[in-house]
Amino acid sequence: MRIRISWINQYMFCPYGFYLEHVLGLKPIKTQYLVTGTKIHAELQKKYLEEGWEVVDIKEALYRSQKNREIFKYRELQINASFPRWELTGKMDELWIYPDQVLIIEDKPGNQAYDGGKYQVMGYALALKHVYHPSIPIQIAVRNRDTQEIMWNEEFDQSREKDVSGILDEIYLVLSGEKIPAAKPSPKKCEHCGFREFCNRKYESRLPDSNRGPADFC
Ligand code: SF4
Repeated sequence: MRIRISWINQYMFCPYGFYLEHVLGLKPIKTQYLVTGTKIHAELQKKYLEEGWEVVDIKEALYRSQKNREIFKYRELQINASFPRWELTGKMDELWIYPDQVLIIEDKPGNQAYDGGKYQVMGYALALKHVYHPSIPIQIAVRNRDTQEIMWNEEFDQSREKDVSGILDEIYLVLSGEKIPAAKPSPKKCEHCGFREFCNRKYESRLPDSNRGPADFC
């Protein structure tokens, strides 16, 4: 079964919203958060292209970084990895290959790294490890997409591999119709959710305008 790695973030934000879109086929209303995110990603991609990084195959980059101590940077890098139960596919926001480590960065809005972003970048690390088997540690990080400050990072170890595999197993069960997931409603989430107009499990009380924060929760 094909699973987009970005779905991990969506699933952790609210599994029921994920179910509405990917199993029942409902279309979310596009929020300002999505529009802004697309624009910032495009700007970062433009900056990356202007920097003129050499783009080589990942296997070659891993080899050359070890042999010649070269550094490689990639943006919006496609990765596909086949496992017995799922085929993972997605684009890493940013990948760095250093002589002593691989660093995968996921850009998210706001000043706090939430589980959705952390697990999403774990998904990329799982796929990269499965395809390229790097002999150096894989570091994973969530960065503030506006300030470019790293908000969270750690090494992708066996415990994290198990954690993200558990979430992928859950997603697999939902997509295959074996499980209807629970909602994770909260005023702030539901207020910014693309399904709020027709979700029957949303948190009903609406926040007063003065208490609304940015859509920085995923
Ligand atoms: S409106 Fe709330 S409960 Fe419904 S899918 Fe969105 S976040 Fe989940």
